[in-house]
Order: sequence, then C-alpha cells, then structure tokens
Amino acid sequence: MSKPRLLITRRVFPEVVDALRAVYEVRTNDDDAFWTPEQTREKAADCDALYVVATDRVDAALLAACPNLKIVATGSVGYNQIDVAACTARGIPVTNTPDVLTEATADMAWALLMATARRVTESERWLREGKWGRWAWDQFLGADVHGATLGIVGMGRIGSAVARRASGFSMRLQYTNRSPAPNEAELGALRVDLDTLLATSDHVVLVLPYSPQTQHMIGAAQLARMKPGATLVNIARGGIVDDAALARALRDGPLAAAGLDVFEGEPVVNPALLEVPNVVLTPHIGSATRSSRLAMAMLAARNLLAFAAGEPLHTPVNGDALRARGAS
Ligand code: NAP
Repeated sequence: MSKPRLLITRRVFPEVVDALRAVYEVRTNDDDAFWTPEQTREKAADCDALYVVATDRVDAALLAACPNLKIVATGSVGYNQIDVAACTARGIPVTNTPDVLTEATADMAWALLMATARRVTESERWLREGKWGRWAWDQFLGADVHGATLGIVGMGRIGSAVARRASGFSMRLQYTNRSPAPNEAELGALRVDLDTLLATSDHVVLVLPYSPQTQHMIGAAQLARMKPGATLVNIARGGIVDDAALARALRDGPLAAAGLDVFEGEPVVNPALLEVPNVVLTPHIGSATRSSRLAMAMLAARNLLAFAAGEPLHTPVNGDALRARGAS
C-alpha cells in the first residue's frame, strides 16, 4: 500500500523528517526557499497531510487546492494563520505545539523586558559608535524593574510563566484576560480591565493570541493611556499592536521604550520603528532555543504520526469542534 503524502513547507531538523519518512512519503523544502501561495498550492495539491509553520497561511484557497488533505499540523502554538473553521467544515484536524515552548518564550519576554527597561541595545549601539567619552550621572537612565508593577495581557501558559519569574523581582502583578485565570491566587496576580492595566502598569507584556478581536487591540488610544515612562513588550503576534501608532508613542510619549519580537506584516518592519532609538527589535525568536524548537518540531511530527496510526492526536486545536460536527 502506498504511503500518504506529506508536504513539509520549511526546512526542519533532519531527525524529524526521518521519523516522518517511516510512515509518510515526505516532500521537503531542503533549500528553505520562499514559496508564493501559488507555489505552495501546487506543491500541496496531491498531499494528504501538511506540516506548516506560523508564517504559512492555510486559507480557503489552499484547502480548495488540496482535495485529499486530511490533517494540518503547525509547528507553533499560535494558529491564527490557519482557517480553522474551514478545516473543521471539511473534517480536517488541526494540531499545534503548546507547552513545549512556554518556558523559552517566557525567558525571551523577560530578555526584552530587561533590555527595554534598562536600555541595553540602545546604549550598546551608542558605545559601538564610539560615543562613550566619559561616565555621567544621567547616562542612559532607565526604569526600575524590581518593585515595579507588571501588567500581563494574556495570562495563559506563557503569561503565567512570565508572571512566575516576576516574583524574584518583588513586582506587583496584574493581568487582563477575558475570564479569570485559574492560577491567579497562586501567582498573586490581580485581574483588571485593559484600560486599568495600561494606566497603572510600569511594564506591560502582551502574550495573547492574534485574532480579528485582538487586531490593533493596542492602538493610539490605548498607548495614550499608558503611564508616562512605561515600557511595552510584544512577544505575542504582529497586528495586536498598531506599529505605526507605537512608533509615534515612542517618539512623542508617553512610552519610554518598547521591546518587539513580532511585527505587523513581518518580516517587513514598519520603517518608523527602525527610526526610533528606544525600541528593541528581535526577529520572531521567542521560542528559539535548540531544545524548544526541536521539541516543537517533534510534537508536530508526533501529531502527524498519531494521525497516520489512527491514534488520538496529542495537541488538537479543533478536536471539540470536529466532535460536535460529527454529532450534529
Ligand atoms: P494560551 O495559554 O492560550 O494563553 C492565551 C491567553 O490570552 C489566555 O489566558 C486567554 O485568556 C488570553 N486572551 C485571549 N484572547 C484575549 C483577549 N481578547 N483579551 C485578553 N486576553 C485574551 O496561549 P500561550 O501558549 O500562552 O500563547 C499565547 C500566544 O503567544 C500564542 O497564541 C502565540 O501567538 C504567541 N507566541 C509567540 C511566540 C513568539 O515566538 N514570539 C512564541 C510562542 C507563542 P481568556 O481566554 O480568558 O481571554
């Protein structure tokens, strides 16, 4: 019997491909070439399974081009790039990679928070430019992290891991979620609405999923409500922050600085952000430690292997929706 066909859209660790070859006829992108949506549709057209990443759009057009498609596995926890409703309507399970990247991403949120509050990259650039003539009392004064108020928008897996790290800095913790976080007492975190969080936090970390509801959730009006001298970290997804409005708030206030790992329209970065000095910019590397990325890649593969074996999926996104569809 012939093996089911699997398209892996991006170059991935060889051990992951080897594990999948045992069960699938695997088509890879060894050069890690950029594929247009049309090229992806062509390459996926006869496939039974798709292994994608956070930057691959799986939309109605791609689904329509793949009549044999039976499963979509993404090597990311976020799945806003996938039209999950359209997959569900076609009976296609979608899987993601929660938990295995939580701690690495929380570490990175803290790296950005510290670098932002204490002006690490801004002062390094100045030093490299040969501008360090002598020490001065008021050189690169930043904001205290210890003892400050940390506001977390999205107290889920990663938000909670960010919050746990704050105890070492004696911070006051508050958060915004649509529903109370079950671990708020354990974390010592107070749930407040977004406006209150923005107006009363010294440092704000965004770590919630992108969706049409969270598009530009932090725009000019929200930025204007932030405390003068506050900092903002976006480790979540581009599009949640209005990057043009953020660049203005960094230039004109009230923000002191921002740290961004994700951008609207990435890998293109709004030129206005490149012009302001008080922003730390990283190229979507929140989960980028070797162990974390390997664990993510393997979890996506384990979902595909479980599917081929007719076993329960490890981390389904639309399991409930598929069951409800089956029952109706
Ligand atoms: P999670 O456990 O599902 O947590 C998400 C949290 O956001 C939940 O507590 C949820 O609570 C809250 N939330 C959702 N919609 C909200 C809204 N409209 N307003 C306020 N809160 C809202 O997810 P996670 O594993 O922590 O990951 C969070 C996100 O981080 C991912 O979706 C991904 O996009 C991003 N991420 C980025 C990187 C990177 O490399 N930069 C790496 C990993 C993850 P309620 O449902 O109660 O609102």
